[in-house]
Amino acid sequence: MTNIATWARVKSPWVLHFNSGACNGCDIEIVALLTPKYDVERFGIKLEPSPRHADVLLTTGCVTQQCAERLKRIYEQMPQPKFVVAIGACACSGGVFAGNYNVVGGVDKVIPVNAYIPGCPPRPEAIIDGVVKLLNSLQPPKPAKKEEKKDVKQ
Ligand code: SF4
Repeated sequence: MTNIATWARVKSPWVLHFNSGACNGCDIEIVALLTPKYDVERFGIKLEPSPRHADVLLTTGCVTQQCAERLKRIYEQMPQPKFVVAIGACACSGGVFAGNYNVVGGVDKVIPVNAYIPGCPPRPEAIIDGVVKLLNSLQPPKPAKKEEKKDVKQ
């Protein structure tokens, strides 16, 4: 059963997007993923508006004081197992807004992060690459191939 659930999650992850204080540059790159040019739905990646049905949380922007509690609440509403991807320099570390009076910092100051995708903003290809690498890391390891028997003439 676990293998089927992992297979389904890897083949068709449902992602939730949350902006905790971004300038919208990273959000536009995420929106680009859904356009026919990148069309991530062909890989089974589906944008899901409800945290209760999402497998992966895509976060953009530094975390502002105002958004920290909301980000935490959304994360807690997601079912296990859940994964968080920090997209862009601001989500990774606070970026250009780090140290601001109203900024807590990067996303990992509030919730655990599984994958970091740097860039300001990262290109859509980099976001796809990061999400695919995260999903591949969930795959159970493949069994080692048996060594072929060689005929040894004595
Ligand atoms: S990383 Fe750059 S594009 Fe993304 S939210 Fe920060 S400033 Fe904007």
